[in-house]
Amino acid sequence: MKKYDHIVVGSGISGLTMSLLLAMSGRKILLIEKSPRIGGSLSRFTRIGIPFETGFHFTGGLQEGGILSDILEFLGMRDAVEPIFLSSPSENQFIFESAGRTFEHPNGIKNVIEQFKTYFPDDALAVDRYFEMVQSVCNRTPSLNIRANTITLPNLDEDYVSLDEVLSGLTSNKLLRGLLSGYAMCYGVRPSEISFANHSRMVLNFYESIAFVKEGGDAFVKAFQEKFKEYDVDIRCGTFMTELADIRSSIVNRFVLNTGEEVSADSCVFTIHPLDILKLLPEKYYSRAFASRVEGFESSIGFFSVFGMLKEGSRDPNPDASIMSLFPDADINKLLDPAYAGTPALVLIKSPNQAGRKGLCILEPSFVEHVAAWRDSSRGMRPQSYLDYKKARLDAIREHLCSVIPAFHDSLEFSDAGSILTFKDYLNSPDGSAYGVKQKLRQFNLIGKLPLHNLFAAGQSALLPGIIGAMMSSLIVGRAVIGKEHYGSLLNRSLCH
Ligand SMILES: Cc1cc2nc3c(=O)[nH]c(=O)nc-3n(C[C@H](O)[C@H](O)[C@H](O)COP(=O)(O)OP(=O)(O)OC[C@H]3O[C@@H](n4cnc5c(N)ncnc54)[C@H](O)[C@@H]3O)c2cc1C
Repeated sequence: MKKYDHIVVGSGISGLTMSLLLAMSGRKILLIEKSPRIGGSLSRFTRIGIPFETGFHFTGGLQEGGILSDILEFLGMRDAVEPIFLSSPSENQFIFESAGRTFEHPNGIKNVIEQFKTYFPDDALAVDRYFEMVQSVCNRTPSLNIRANTITLPNLDEDYVSLDEVLSGLTSNKLLRGLLSGYAMCYGVRPSEISFANHSRMVLNFYESIAFVKEGGDAFVKAFQEKFKEYDVDIRCGTFMTELADIRSSIVNRFVLNTGEEVSADSCVFTIHPLDILKLLPEKYYSRAFASRVEGFESSIGFFSVFGMLKEGSRDPNPDASIMSLFPDADINKLLDPAYAGTPALVLIKSPNQAGRKGLCILEPSFVEHVAAWRDSSRGMRPQSYLDYKKARLDAIREHLCSVIPAFHDSLEFSDAGSILTFKDYLNSPDGSAYGVKQKLRQFNLIGKLPLHNLFAAGQSALLPGIIGAMMSSLIVGRAVIGKEHYGSLLNRSLCH
């Protein structure tokens, strides 16, 4: 039986980060991935020479001293991930259609505050107060400064109040509330359900800077692959765990894989959906309360994704904008409600730095309820009614986009589309949600040690979603696995030279 120090399950950005951190501490790692290739939602694909991102598109935190920049430096791959910063405010537009208003979003929190105050002069105090509160939460969240080597999970007053409640206390202006809630699309939870604290922890990075990455998600995957060459990391694709065996004193001693092979390891970290972790745990090792907690976790939103391009030779009708968020209604709660029957929100993201034909990705919020009829169908075997559903969504999305940008009538071409069932298949997730389990008020997600003592949970569902939240979850849990001192010396070695 092959012996490893640690097994990491899932090779999205969380599993890659976890594997590298553990390997950097001198351990022998087995990284297993159910799909034929590593990367999870970092994956991209190419059509007629245009690369399309399936998950990760843009991020905050890559500016000098930003959290993602620090994490990458810690992992020794800062130079391998080249940011393409949005540089002008018009590159990131929030369009509130019912109000007929377009808001531009500059880089840098001071610039954002000034810009928003010019949009809402009567609410200047509310804007100031909101940004003060966001910064205050982040200043009081020690783990957001990875150089500090502390993981005290904060328990702030703002962890127990919703974004909606805070905004309602600051202003009665629904449009301003909508604008300040717009980034809910980037974590997939309604403003009435997300705590103000978690909203703040996720959006501050976007206020500081937004960047695409040269070569998109592939840049991260390649950077990890390069780093793994320096360490002892064994990667197995098409592999998953089927059984936890030889359990003594709540410690798993043998891990059985679908290949029939059995391996041993001191510990195993799961970066996959908590429901799939639960399925592996033998019933007698957890309580009914634990099972109900995990089974009761609600999913974040998913997306109906459309991949398209501008026709050969056609001009981009809105060349300044790289990211356009379209909100038919200022009430983001409504737009992120599965039962909402009006025109859905859309986020249109242009592929950066491409000469000629520009790739476009269009994301429309979608929910398990929308595809419930085909939930148990499998890829390539779905009935005509599912294809009709996809066609109807494509027609509606085209109509919506053309109503906002009429020149798209002649220039927009769609090449591919995926529903949340597509995401369910390629991410091997139970429901195809974009950000895993919701970070919802009063919902206590699984992070760290599991009922069997050498098993741990990390990943986007554990702490916060997006690549920053997913990587942070791995640093926090990885630190618990290797120990604070050892983690601290790795930090010092990487960040203090
Ligand atoms: C459409 C979309 C757009 C997004 N846009 C952005 C964005 O612009 N910026 C941003 O920061 N974030 C974005 N995100 C979110 C971001 O991609 C995720 O939060 C993050 O990448 C999640 O990483 P992860 O490793 O936790 O999970 P995943 O990337 O889902 O990786 C989990 C991996 O585990 C594997 N797996 C599952 N079950 C098993 C098993 N039993 N055994 C072995 N392997 C298994 C899966 O195949 C997968 O490879 C987006 C997500 C989506 C879907």
